Amino acid sequence: MGKVLIIGAGGVGTVVANKVAQNSDLFTGIMLASRTKSKCDTIAEDVKRRTGVTIETARVDADNVPELVSLMNGFKPELVINVALPYQDLTIMDACLEAGVHYLDTANYEPKDEAKFEYKWQWAYREKFEKAGLTAILGCGFDPGVTSIFTAYAAKHHFDEIHYLDIVDCNAGDHGKAFATNFNPEINIREVTQKGKYWENGEWVETEPHEIHQPLTYPEIGPKESYVIFHEELESLVKNYPTLKRARFWMTFGQEYLTHLRVIQNIGMARIDEVEYNGQKIVPIQFLKAVLPDPGELGENYTGQTSIGCRIKGIKDGKERTYYIYNNCSHEAAYKETGAQGVSYTTGVPATIGGMMFMKGLWKKPGVYNVEEFDPDPFMDQLNKQGLPWHELFNVDLEV
Ligand code: NDP
Repeated sequence: MGKVLIIGAGGVGTVVANKVAQNSDLFTGIMLASRTKSKCDTIAEDVKRRTGVTIETARVDADNVPELVSLMNGFKPELVINVALPYQDLTIMDACLEAGVHYLDTANYEPKDEAKFEYKWQWAYREKFEKAGLTAILGCGFDPGVTSIFTAYAAKHHFDEIHYLDIVDCNAGDHGKAFATNFNPEINIREVTQKGKYWENGEWVETEPHEIHQPLTYPEIGPKESYVIFHEELESLVKNYPTLKRARFWMTFGQEYLTHLRVIQNIGMARIDEVEYNGQKIVPIQFLKAVLPDPGELGENYTGQTSIGCRIKGIKDGKERTYYIYNNCSHEAAYKETGAQGVSYTTGVPATIGGMMFMKGLWKKPGVYNVEEFDPDPFMDQLNKQGLPWHELFNVDLEV
């Protein structure tokens, strides 16, 4: 049990605030802090109305370590749940070290001036967290997060060796807009326009963006064209499961989405460097974010569901086995419960469960860890209780 400081008041922050309040037996004090305090206040009022639980709010610039340290020293949280942007990971980790607070996030660090996400920057904090006796839990959303825990669960219970891993992420929802991203547009567009990359026979294989694709069939949804992209959990999973011969990540995109994306790139609006405009410097992708629909506002008219899971092939008792574990999440149900759509929900619920694992002392060890390095069982149990039930299929055609 202990106090929690949530940083970031976007779609994911909304869900974390709701779910943490629903579990206020473990989270004995809650503060929501972000760049714009009014957004925190709106969320806190909504959570109070839904759950009766009071959330304190504060303004903080999470790029500024002294500001963060002073906020932490004032509120004295046990744990920070960082659901701001990946750019803030290192400053928040620095502040946690200074104030003696444990840390959890859902996305790995990315420098603002380079569309490149890698764990190396955060893994470099391992010794500092160990020495300080503090736990840092990295990548505790859905993907990364639940997909990594699904893999850990499969490796623990169903396989002696896992050989082939295909993480499959389908959003079959419809938000009624011509083009919108489901989470922060800047981070999302940087992620999906990168070159593809997957692991095979001990090395990374690079592809052109969206070069490899095929239809995959998703439960209760049907076939959807799916594309191999690089996704951050692959980096830690191939390290933690060295028996993997191949590991890939697939994501569904509609034709309309891809056409918009191509145009955005071709006209230079995906650029992350500064350009001169009317005597002022602007970053095109940041300007684009300002005119695109706010992902946090998509929920009201969002229908359909997401389906994310792991398709695994490996060996059990000397025999080859295939295994598919997945969760389907309804956008409408997510909105009804928390006021946010399914993509924010599938990220915010696991972040909260990670916080619960920490508060219960189950996921607590000094150092910096990816989620698959902890015991998956109590987390899997909570997924069923907190709104993200999972299903298993054995010896099915994995299609990949
Ligand atoms: P949003 O853009 O909706 O929200 C981000 C929030 O962080 C906003 O409230 C923003 O403030 C705040 N923020 C940004 N910069 C600062 C700063 N310097 N100081 C304080 N607050 C700041 O993003 P989402 O909620 O959609 O996503 C949140 C995180 O979740 C991202 O890191 C994203 O990558 C991650 N994510 C992870 C997924 C997973 O499955 N693992 C899936 C989806 C998202 P303001 O409101 O003022 O702009």
